Amino acid sequence: MATVELVNVAHSYDGGTTYAVRDINLTWEDGVASALLGPSGCGKTTLLKIISGLLKPSEGQVLIDGQDVTAQSPRERNVAQVFQFPVVYETLNVYNNLAFPLRNRGVDEAEVDRNVRAVAEMLELTPYLKKRANRLGAAEKQRISMGRGIVRSDTTAVLFDEPLTIIDPHQKWHLRRKLKELHQRLNLTMIYVTHDQHEALTFADQVTVMDAGEALQTASPEELHTQPAAPFVGYFIGSPGMNLFEGKVVVSGIQLADYHLALATDLVEGSSVQVGIRPEYIQVSKDAHEGWFAATVTRTMLTGNALMLELASDSLQLKAIVPEESPLQAGETVYVHFPHDKVLLYSSRKDGGKRLETQVAV
Ligand code: ATP
Repeated sequence: MATVELVNVAHSYDGGTTYAVRDINLTWEDGVASALLGPSGCGKTTLLKIISGLLKPSEGQVLIDGQDVTAQSPRERNVAQVFQFPVVYETLNVYNNLAFPLRNRGVDEAEVDRNVRAVAEMLELTPYLKKRANRLGAAEKQRISMGRGIVRSDTTAVLFDEPLTIIDPHQKWHLRRKLKELHQRLNLTMIYVTHDQHEALTFADQVTVMDAGEALQTASPEELHTQPAAPFVGYFIGSPGMNLFEGKVVVSGIQLADYHLALATDLVEGSSVQVGIRPEYIQVSKDAHEGWFAATVTRTMLTGNALMLELASDSLQLKAIVPEESPLQAGETVYVHFPHDKVLLYSSRKDGGKRLETQVAV
């Protein structure tokens, strides 16, 4: 496998009027399991096509192991792609489907046989080797597609474009586990595209979050959760996502509508900021405390082993996650506090929503 790099990549489908992706500088190290995560239309598929060679970027370079392959065809790059819908030869049996990419390259039959049987074993396809693909279900067909992606030993990277979309929910878990297992056994460079954070965060060690054509942050699942580099990342990752508020820097703190968040910063007084805090870090009490603000519980919802609260004060609306056994009900008044060490500050939307590293707790 190989290291894949995008350098200053941008792509416009309309001759430069609008850009589907821009300012992309990303590296996928050899053998890393990665994901590209973002909402529909953010440019994930465009990036995958640029990596595989199906699309030549309007600007920038694609490097594989340091070599500029921007002008090379998909075949020359040896990048395998697995799509949403399984790509199989319906009338061929599973063995011949898996053998196809090897025979196509003139690999000798002994090696074809070795590789096909090894891949079939890993993907639990051995019992089906003699069966025609058209007699199998969607999950098995997608396993054949994956097998075709990894069967060649000269593959540089395997790209997965929402490969579990059409798979039944109970089979998804199994296939995702298989993919993870494949990665661990073969040490493949894998890039997995999805709009589903659960899929991305369980599969990948390194996740790139995209929005509106930009790569906002590349980090481990844990870092995306605790240190989101942009408000969108905080909001998109997590269930529910990070609470975000518009605020103004004032003497000894930040004013969020009626709530004075006592937090010493070296930010310029009067400047606008965005304040982020994850629902699970918000403190909620039935008792009043100095510096906490009053809010009404507008809704409660059990989520797994926690209780999600929707809260509204006179001026703020937010979500908090508290232990399941908290005896709180809709209509009750509670008191709310944002622990200083859990508050994240970003520049205002008009200044690009960049993470501000200047906060000092008081
Ligand atoms: P989805 O998850 O819905 O597939 P995506 O994140 O993969 O979305 P892309 O398919 O890369 O996003 O699309 C990015 C932008 O480029 C969108 O605005 C889309 O409408 C536009 N786009 C994609 N393909 C083409 C095309 N062939 N011609 C013109 N515009 C396109």
